[in-house]
This record gives sequence, C-alpha cells and structure tokens, in this order.
Amino acid sequence: MSKIIEIIKNDLDLDNLSYVEGLERDYSTSYPCDDGCKNDYCRCGVIEDITITIDFEEFFRGRVQGLINDDKLKLKLDDLDMYAIRKLFVLNNFDDSSCFSCEAEGGYYGQEIGSVTHSNSDKLIIDIRNYLSLHTKENKIKYILVKEFGSVPEKFKNINLENVTVDDLITEEEKSSFRKIVDSVRKKVKKGSLK
Ligand SMILES: [Zn+2]
Repeated sequence: MSKIIEIIKNDLDLDNLSYVEGLERDYSTSYPCDDGCKNDYCRCGVIEDITITIDFEEFFRGRVQGLINDDKLKLKLDDLDMYAIRKLFVLNNFDDSSCFSCEAEGGYYGQEIGSVTHSNSDKLIIDIRNYLSLHTKENKIKYILVKEFGSVPEKFKNINLENVTVDDLITEEEKSSFRKIVDSVRKKVKKGSLK
C-alpha cells in the first residue's frame, strides 16, 4: 500500500462504520429457546432485522473532517475540492444505505452484531488519492466530470475549464446541502486548512 493511500485510509476511517456520525444501525435479538435456558446462561440469541440508516450529509461531514485536519497531508481544500470529494462519495454509493453491510457473527453468548462496512471503501480511497494528486483546476474538473458522466459533457467542451466553478457543476438539489456542509466543516476546522 502506498504511503498516501495509507494516510487517506487512516483519515477516512472506513473500516468500521458502526459508530460514526450520520449512520445508524438497528437490530433485534430473538431467543428461540423461549425459557431463557433456565439453568445456564442463555447462548441462543439470534440477531434479526439488521437495518442501516444513513444521513449522508452528516456522514460525509464526519468522514471528511479527518482528511482536512490531517497534519501530514496539509491539504488546502477549496470549494471545488470539497465538491469533488463529496461527489466521489456519492459516485461510490456512500449515500445509499443498501450498500452498507453488517452481519451477525457467532459469539460465545449467542450471536453478536458485526461491524458496518461499505463495499466501495477501497475504491473511494483510490479515487480520492487520484483526485488529490491532480494539480491544475482544469485536470481536477475533467477528472470529476469523467467520473460522473464517463466523458466531458458537451456543454463543457468548448469552454476553458479553468473558469468553471462549483456553481457550474452542482445541481439545484445539491446546492443547499453542499453549502451547509462546507460551512459546518469550516467551523470545525482546526487551523485554517480550508481556503
Ligand atoms: Zn437460550
């Protein structure tokens, strides 16, 4: 694993999402033995109905915080970077609760709940690494457009991508929540690592 991948992986901390902001895990435990194993400690618990609910904006804000505050990366993330990184989370289905998984595991005292994971965690980390390795605005915008649409859409073909702003990229639906994220992340930033 390259050093930078390792750092991003560490910052986003996606390996165990059981207790992170914006993600809620719910389940129930049933006891088929009925009588609670009268003479012994009951080990019959079966975990059922595991559901995961995601509040994506809150989730994203919590994850991206680690990246922004990283002392080794010393990132200066502007609005475009925030937009792009958020978009990479969405394109990797981190806003879709059905793409998270959580399994029941056998434990000594009956089933135990396992940790919450997401199937695209490694892909997301690589996408973010690739994006952060780009240095011109033109390349960054091209990268994110190609990720989203497969190629640079017609309406961006004959203009200088250096002049494109987040407002040109963002959809109406995304606008208000995106603003909220940027504002709240800025408030929590340790020491001016956002431009
Ligand atoms: Zn029992």
